Amino acid sequence: MKTKAALFRAVGQPLEVREIELREPRPDEVLVRIAAVGICGTDLHVVKGDWDRPKPMVLGHEGAGTVEAVGEAVDGLAEGDAVVLSWAPSCGRCADCVRGRPAMCIELQRGIAAGTLPDGTTGMEADGEIVYRGTATGAFTERLTVGADVALPLGEGILLEEAALLGCAALTGVGAVLFQGRPRPGSLVLVVGAGGVGQFCVQGARIAGAAEIVCVDPLESRLEQAALLGATRTATPDTLKATMREIARDGVDVAFDAVGDPQTTALALRWTRNGGRTVLVGLPAAGERLDLDPIEFVRREKELTGSMYGSEDPRVSLPVLLEHVRSGALQLAPMVGPRFSLDDVDAAVQAALAGPPGRVIVTP
Ligand SMILES: [Zn+2]
Ligand SMILES: [Zn+2]
Repeated sequence: MKTKAALFRAVGQPLEVREIELREPRPDEVLVRIAAVGICGTDLHVVKGDWDRPKPMVLGHEGAGTVEAVGEAVDGLAEGDAVVLSWAPSCGRCADCVRGRPAMCIELQRGIAAGTLPDGTTGMEADGEIVYRGTATGAFTERLTVGADVALPLGEGILLEEAALLGCAALTGVGAVLFQGRPRPGSLVLVVGAGGVGQFCVQGARIAGAAEIVCVDPLESRLEQAALLGATRTATPDTLKATMREIARDGVDVAFDAVGDPQTTALALRWTRNGGRTVLVGLPAAGERLDLDPIEFVRREKELTGSMYGSEDPRVSLPVLLEHVRSGALQLAPMVGPRFSLDDVDAAVQAALAGPPGRVIVTP
């Protein structure tokens, strides 16, 4: 079948919107009419050339839409169902899959590096040439076939433009707090970076009952938004020291680095109290290394860990997040930034590169 999609061909070149050939859904797949896709830092890493990926590639992995057709072996999904896409179509058999961590699946990770699904195929072509899928998804398209295990039902009453954000930023940010950092009620929390994932870390910390949530970012507009979403104090890198002095001389119980730059990780670790935990959430550019002082871990007993896709199976964490959306605790609407049509996807990418306070959304 044919669909309109945006192809990334080379760094510095505009994305090309054109018709491509899409494989019909296999027995265990569904066809989704994509309604909205958020642009994630991962897409921008590829656009900027931080990570080398096969091309042409359809980027976009934070998508939501409506099921248009289901394969004959699919249970539990029907035509017309609203779904959000998980970007972890995993093998289901390896040790990581079996313990409920599909985002770590080695076949998935190989697929992501190769621009394919975990089985090595993409199901996309243009002029007889393979078209690759960004983050094992490829959602900058009007229609997309995905495994039924990654089309997660949303139920009623949630706008697809808002639901798209659940697929990556919210699962990643809120999940990192609730399932990995696990601050206790009354804790002090620091969030480094107030992009999409950082704003969701702030919300996760509020949901977890943190007493103080400090958010640091160089952009005032993002800090204003973080304050609306639950940050009790905000700071730029220059004012962070003074802000931290106001709440705790020795640092926070749990710090999240939502950026993934070695400097932001160092900042998060620096402001973690003795015996506290630092959680790396943002992904660094390829080849980055950390320069760590062992004293932080021996004499100061800090823990440094990471969180991949919210440290939980999206099929488990998404229903938790949906409960928080329904109760009003998890706010999606303020996170929706400027919207662009698929034809204007290149302008959307440029807008996302500028780092606006809300998530840039493409509506195919
Ligand atoms: Zn993402
Ligand atoms: Zn696996």
